Amino acid sequence: MDRLHGFPQPFPDESLYSLAVRYHRLLSNDSYRRTSQELFGVYSRTCGSILPCCLGALSQRLASAYSVEQLIDRFTLLPLYEPFLNDSKSRAARVAMTGNDGTGLKMSLGITASGFLKHASFRYCERCVEEDIQHCGSAYWHRIHQASGTCICPLHGEVLRGTTFPDGADWRCMLFPAEVAGSPVMQSLGGPAADEVSEMQFWGLEHPADVRNLLAKNFLGHRLDEMGFLKAGRVRLQALKSFLTPRLLCSPSGNEFEVLSCSWEWVLGVVRPRRMVVQPLKFYFLCWLLEVGLEHLKSFHPQADICSGEATKGSDTGAPVEESEIEARRQAFSSSKNVKCHEKPGYHWLYRHDRNWLAQYVSGHPFIRRITGLDDWAARDEALSRDLLIARDQILFSLGKPQKVTRAALSRRVAHSQDFLRMPDKCPISTLLMSDMLESDHDHQVRKIRWAARQYLLSKRSALSVVYRFAGIRLSHVTEEEVLDILSVAGELR
Ligand SMILES: [Zn+2]
Repeated sequence: MDRLHGFPQPFPDESLYSLAVRYHRLLSNDSYRRTSQELFGVYSRTCGSILPCCLGALSQRLASAYSVEQLIDRFTLLPLYEPFLNDSKSRAARVAMTGNDGTGLKMSLGITASGFLKHASFRYCERCVEEDIQHCGSAYWHRIHQASGTCICPLHGEVLRGTTFPDGADWRCMLFPAEVAGSPVMQSLGGPAADEVSEMQFWGLEHPADVRNLLAKNFLGHRLDEMGFLKAGRVRLQALKSFLTPRLLCSPSGNEFEVLSCSWEWVLGVVRPRRMVVQPLKFYFLCWLLEVGLEHLKSFHPQADICSGEATKGSDTGAPVEESEIEARRQAFSSSKNVKCHEKPGYHWLYRHDRNWLAQYVSGHPFIRRITGLDDWAARDEALSRDLLIARDQILFSLGKPQKVTRAALSRRVAHSQDFLRMPDKCPISTLLMSDMLESDHDHQVRKIRWAARQYLLSKRSALSVVYRFAGIRLSHVTEEEVLDILSVAGELR
């Protein structure tokens, strides 16, 4: 076995693939096959993966300058996933990455089933490229940029670009970032969610032990309890759904977020994972949905187990409780409105530690049930109209081939849509607005042709049948003149 000479010094947060590219270029190798043979002793099909294999062989060739554990921890994305794995899954992943056969690795970690992989690309940040060239002498692939759900650079807050390798090639052409121009992975900045999720994932990747600690101390359970979404240790599904639905509407709609923003049910799999592996993106995105930011994650130090009423009933350890904590619990409890006392955050904790105060509070604040049927329909109509406008924009600005603005597509994105579909008389503004928004076949086809012209660089010389095929149009509702007009405008914009 040959020892390696001239292996590059790693840059901060550099991926293993990036090191392989730099090695390849340093030695002016003529093919990936040669580079792989030199680095791994075999032809590795996983060098470009976020979870590459053959690391045992690489460690040996580096004369143990890096142990396999160090290679995994520093240059792969396993540390992002590991806090969510049990010991046996984590061990099995490391064994697979040490050896030469990674078959089934992504499947066993739930990555294949997550549906995120279809959005994966080799991503880079233009500002990082500039700064890396300036400070390190070379651009390189950052590990965090390749994580599912990282669409914004956590260092610069800029939308990442996804690489399309030339001539249908793949990562084996061993390019540096930005050597071929990539396209933005999001059309706009994607709002605070994309930004904060990137930041949290970056922190999670670098602090797996802290994330494991958060999970061990049931961080999400505490958060749900704080927000009043637990009742006797169980999740109050309807309340949680009502809270999450409008927030999901404001979340990024493209890329990996597309899988998450269309429904809220996946949240239950994160809160109660059972035997499934929670995808890091789902955990951090749920944190954002529950109004948790990176600072919350860093500063989480639970004083007592408040999260599970059923599990902790009668488990008072008798340990003294700080005054300040009692005060904070009282404050959280008394500021929660419109729910019955025993459903308010921290009820069980106060019952155990501060029963006299609790009894006094409860007797002085009888719960008055809201009378249903007297709902403010005007306010609801107004809120629905706002949601409809957001939904229309989400459809119009979603990535990929344009979707049609239909009644069903709008309804899917709007909370309580059934209300006004069933009772249009009570929601006159929303009803009118929706009928105004619906897109005709003609308008939808115009958008599809514009999109195809941009996407496939169609010109006025393109045959009409080709344009229709790329735009996905079978029966045309546009005139030939209109198509030519669109193509010539698209050509001028290029
Ligand atoms: Zn950057």
